[in-house]
Amino acid sequence: MNWQALAALAAMVLMVIAVAIVAAVALASPSPAHGAALTRSIAASAASGAGGFELTAARVSPRKAYFAGRPVRIEFRLRAPAPLALAVDMVREATGKPVRRLVVPAVAPGAAQRVEWDGLTGSGKVAPGGSYRARLRAPDGSARLAGTFTLRGHIFPIRGAHADRGPIGTFGVARSGGRTHNGFDVNAACGVKLVAARGGRVVRADYDPVLYGNVIIVRGDHTRRDYWYSHLLRTPRVRVGDRVSTGQRLGSIGATGNARTIGCHLHFEIRRDGDPIDPAPELHRWDRWS
Ligand SMILES: [Zn+2]
Repeated sequence: MNWQALAALAAMVLMVIAVAIVAAVALASPSPAHGAALTRSIAASAASGAGGFELTAARVSPRKAYFAGRPVRIEFRLRAPAPLALAVDMVREATGKPVRRLVVPAVAPGAAQRVEWDGLTGSGKVAPGGSYRARLRAPDGSARLAGTFTLRGHIFPIRGAHADRGPIGTFGVARSGGRTHNGFDVNAACGVKLVAARGGRVVRADYDPVLYGNVIIVRGDHTRRDYWYSHLLRTPRVRVGDRVSTGQRLGSIGATGNARTIGCHLHFEIRRDGDPIDPAPELHRWDRWS
């Protein structure tokens, strides 16, 4: 190739870059600073052909997240020609669509960034359970994956070896004195760790010598349900009005109240709008994933 052909090629490349810059300025917002940043970002992406930014570090934790528990934390660091606005999208794998977008207005290249997601959708509802990916998207449309995680609405409350008590522990069976069994019983050794299946506010924490023994009731966040934990080994440490998060320790499996003649187990109830429902299907589902 002679120098004339090279010069012609160089002129063409310059023209393409100029057109890209003009297009970027036309697209840019009225803010001059933002427009300049966007122009540089697009020019850089045109030059590298790989979008306006690169992730140099990214981490999502916890990998197994629970609503009303520890928030999903997205930490990252990026390389880019200039600060840029980033959308952090929580994309549901089942649909490929984001359920929530968190916007960081000006991400400085090289600086550690941290974004936290509370598990709510853009319309304030609890996001559906399942697999998610956290995706970072720049104004020019280039996107990078920060990491993946699962979100669930509940954790199984017994954090140790356990087994269903059997037919006598199922929901709705007859009890002495004309009562019916309002919950579901799960056997576990005395002292095994017990946690909140769903975070919320403590509405009862006391001792009932006749039936429940040491009992804690939590009104679940974004539910119309109360979660009952009974026969706990010791006097509850939480008090009425306390907030507990999903997975937070409530106490230990015990045999207080009318469990004293049976042995250590959890009597668990869910009451929706005050009415007990059968917690077994949900308990078994939670047990499979947590
Ligand atoms: Zn029971």
